[in-house]
Amino acid sequence: MKYEMPFAIDRARLYAAVASLPCKFPGCPGCPDVQVSHSNQSRDGKGMGLKAYPWRVAAIGRKHHVEIDSGKNLTGDERVELWESAHRATMGALFETGRVRPVAKLPVQYHQEEFQ
Ligand SMILES: [Zn+2]
Repeated sequence: MKYEMPFAIDRARLYAAVASLPCKFPGCPGCPDVQVSHSNQSRDGKGMGLKAYPWRVAAIGRKHHVEIDSGKNLTGDERVELWESAHRATMGALFETGRVRPVAKLPVQYHQEEFQ
């Protein structure tokens, strides 16, 4: 099973937009090879063999991505806190830079309650 977005192309567009941002790991001056880092938290839909919701992502450079996923210097709580900060900064940057924009009008088949 895989979580889908209402429009299939949106996932690829979102991931490309995220990967185009500078690394959002707290305190990072901008390390290279920014990747799309997915949440590892069950509250974000993560489960056995299942990636989190497509929008629970953060722009994180490769070395910091490894540190968050498998580094030995961080506790579990620290990993969550650092990823959360990166996720919030990523979502902010997507909107601030116009990479994500609300649509003017939802297509008729997508009513508001389906997005809650
Ligand atoms: Zn970094």
